[in-house]
Amino acid sequence: MAKIELLNITKRFGKFTALDNVNLEIKDNEFFVLFGPAGAGKTTLLNTVAGLVMPEEGLVKFNGEIMNKVDPSHRNVAMVFENYALYPNLTVYENIASPLRSPLYKKDDATIDKEVHRVAKILRIDHLVERLPSQLSNGQKQRVAIGRALVRNPNVFLMDEPIAHLDAKLRHHMRSELKEMQSSFNSTVIYVTHDFLEAVSLGDRIAIINEGKIVQVGTREEVYYTPCNEFVATLVGEPEINLVDGRLVVDNGKYYVEVMQKGYLMPLPENSGIIKKLVDSGITEYHLGFRPNNVKYTFQKQDGLLRGTVYSFESIGNKAVLIAKIGDQFLRMIAPNDLQVKLDQDVYVELPISKATFFNAQTTQFIG
Ligand code: ATP
Repeated sequence: MAKIELLNITKRFGKFTALDNVNLEIKDNEFFVLFGPAGAGKTTLLNTVAGLVMPEEGLVKFNGEIMNKVDPSHRNVAMVFENYALYPNLTVYENIASPLRSPLYKKDDATIDKEVHRVAKILRIDHLVERLPSQLSNGQKQRVAIGRALVRNPNVFLMDEPIAHLDAKLRHHMRSELKEMQSSFNSTVIYVTHDFLEAVSLGDRIAIINEGKIVQVGTREEVYYTPCNEFVATLVGEPEINLVDGRLVVDNGKYYVEVMQKGYLMPLPENSGIIKKLVDSGITEYHLGFRPNNVKYTFQKQDGLLRGTVYSFESIGNKAVLIAKIGDQFLRMIAPNDLQVKLDQDVYVELPISKATFFNAQTTQFIG
């Protein structure tokens, strides 16, 4: 168990800054997710905790103790990668036992036996311990790889996209299993992913990283409902949030926002506090974020709704995404798979202003 602190960490590869003044505190026993696009610096950050990458600046601390000069083999971190790298000629039992047989641990046979069975039970592979890796499914192999890490009782578990290569169904299964297993890990977990569903379903807290910088750290609710800027709002959510142009209009003491079409005025909710936030921001041009699941549509002509045409309709599993074209802007909405719809047909759209997230159109920062 360990609290991990990263203080002002900067890592450069030549002239390229891969980590830029990163500050993070990961709590003891926390399942902490690092989430960001390809090349954001996630793996570099994980390797910095492991001691495989040495930062030019900053401190890595475990339970308050500076680790910068501590060799990776003495940090008691366990890494699980996408590539599970099992020993092909050893049984599941021996694969899991292997770290405990290493000179670093050198446990006796009775302890090893107890530990291997403890871990195999947590991972529900105790019936497979006599098999060779070639006799396992990919999901089972991944569990053996996790078992090999778990058996060492690491201070911290570092997982780099460990289930990214599994097919969608298995990934879904492993996601819920990992979450369930976490309570038995009894260990701090730092989990790297670029998959939104993985990030929100696993993370107690999520750090969003981009271009080597931590953009926001928060619970899934915090990053979803109060994203600090448009980048986070866009990254967190599937299908992607709609961002539409809006402008503040004050008429007869009433506050409106003009969106998507000239003259389309939506009254701002009076009791939500958003009017004050918008006025206080000193800005009158916004981007309004609407989650696709909150946007309503109808094919019946209705006054007061935005009129557009159906631009596309695509199934994404058990639901579909309907995209409407309104002027030169597009709106994504969630629809049932069996919706009867034709391309270019008229569609009328209702934007739920009370659920809008407002961003500064210039800086893209969150307003309210
Ligand atoms: P992905 O999701 O694609 O694995 P990531 O967020 O894990 O990406 P990193 O692997 O940490 O990103 O890489 C961050 C940046 O640092 C990338 O631009 C990468 O090319 C660069 N980088 C990483 N390792 C090295 C290295 N050894 N030498 C030079 N550049 C590197």
